[in-house]
Amino acid sequence: MLKDKLNYPEILKQIEQDIQNDFGKGKLADYIPALANINPNQFAIHITTTLGEEYSVGNVDTLFSIQSISKVYTFTLALKQLNDDIWQRVGKEPSGNRFNSLVQLEYENGIPRNPFINAGAIVISDIIFDGLGKTKNKVLQFVRGLSPNQTISFDEEVADSEREFGHRNRAMANLMKSFGNLKNDTNDVLDVYFHQCSIQMTVKDLSRSLIYLANGGKSLSNQEIINYRQAKRINALMLTCGLYDAVGDFAYRVGLPAKSGVGGGIVAIIPNKLVISVWSPELNQAGNSYIGTKALELFTTYASNSIF
Ligand code: GLN
Repeated sequence: MLKDKLNYPEILKQIEQDIQNDFGKGKLADYIPALANINPNQFAIHITTTLGEEYSVGNVDTLFSIQSISKVYTFTLALKQLNDDIWQRVGKEPSGNRFNSLVQLEYENGIPRNPFINAGAIVISDIIFDGLGKTKNKVLQFVRGLSPNQTISFDEEVADSEREFGHRNRAMANLMKSFGNLKNDTNDVLDVYFHQCSIQMTVKDLSRSLIYLANGGKSLSNQEIINYRQAKRINALMLTCGLYDAVGDFAYRVGLPAKSGVGGGIVAIIPNKLVISVWSPELNQAGNSYIGTKALELFTTYASNSIF
């Protein structure tokens, strides 16, 4: 009924109604207490268009832990730094395994499949590493500048828990170090990784900050964040690797390049049009927001707009 009318406020209101019966179907991330104890009944969407229009619904001003969505920012920084040389350290194929799997790393000689699984993101943190304390603040400054919102910060409680319970990530980092694919001290690199995962922001900050991916690499004020080719590549990687081992199902249902995090956030891009960010903390089995995925599926259906 809404299909032919591109009325974003109406579409978002409809989605909010449609997802009401889906609370309780997913499960909160429980690997750290800080995520296991949040109120599961939360939901927000925010859209930023390349024309600078904004639309939202739900808990738009609530901060949430962006977790693996941070991999988009660090990958952007690494691509700026190394360009195509980056592919000597990390692959660009979907892994077909969980985001924190160790299995491929051993028989693929410590080269992670892509920058969006944990092992790949740890290598990316190593690539952009230029000093203890300095690198994590560089990432934070980058994110703050993109949003732009100087109040975006780390959640130190989450960062501490990531460190305390980060045994698998530490195992990956050590394995990659043994293959020579980690140049800096393992603990220093993990400190960057754990902090980037702990960045907290609102859906509003999130969709604003990544508008350059819908805008050929440029911010809304026409500043070049990355070039067109690099923006194309990041979108391609998001499409093929952004949702881990559920990437096929997500492409089938939603049809957009996207990146998720176990905090329940998902951000998706419609090139040349808009960035849409969703947050709802309960996750499906692959570790992606249950309601977030459904909301994005409804969005591309109601708006009749995907990349396909
Ligand atoms: N901090 C989480 C981890 O390293 C991030 C994973 C995710 O969001 N998929 O396991």
